[in-house]
Amino acid sequence: MGFTGQCRCGQVHLQLQIEALAPLYACHCLDCQRWSGSAFALHMLCAAQAIEISGSTTTYIHTAQGHTSTQYACSTCFTRLFNETDAAPGMRVLRAGVLHGADRLTPLAHIWVKRKQPWISLPEGVAQWPESPTPEEFAVAISEQAPIAAL
Ligand SMILES: [Zn+2]
Ligand SMILES: [Zn+2]
Repeated sequence: MGFTGQCRCGQVHLQLQIEALAPLYACHCLDCQRWSGSAFALHMLCAAQAIEISGSTTTYIHTAQGHTSTQYACSTCFTRLFNETDAAPGMRVLRAGVLHGADRLTPLAHIWVKRKQPWISLPEGVAQWPESPTPEEFAVAISEQAPIAAL
């Protein structure tokens, strides 16, 4: 059981060794808008060892606000796959749009909504923060939501 995903060209495949998906959330910050070339990014925080990859990746390492983040992308088509940050050791932030069946997933929370593009309407009652919540605030907000089991 598990979840799978791939990059745009199919050179890199991902396998998630988890029983249920971590909460999906959308980040509307300006960095995510630029980085994705879109209006927001879809993220999922996973244990690093739960993400297995096959294929060749390239990395981009950058430091911001005292934290170093390593971005992993397909070395052929440059699809962003996930990143690691020393702000969350042992974890990886998956770009959830690379998952097969991502169209069945709904973000449980929205962060950095103060940068949200004005044409996007969020569902009523969905958890949201103007910037990033604390991990505790995030955990409380999504704890009422049922996890998505592996298909
Ligand atoms: Zn690729
Ligand atoms: Zn962001």
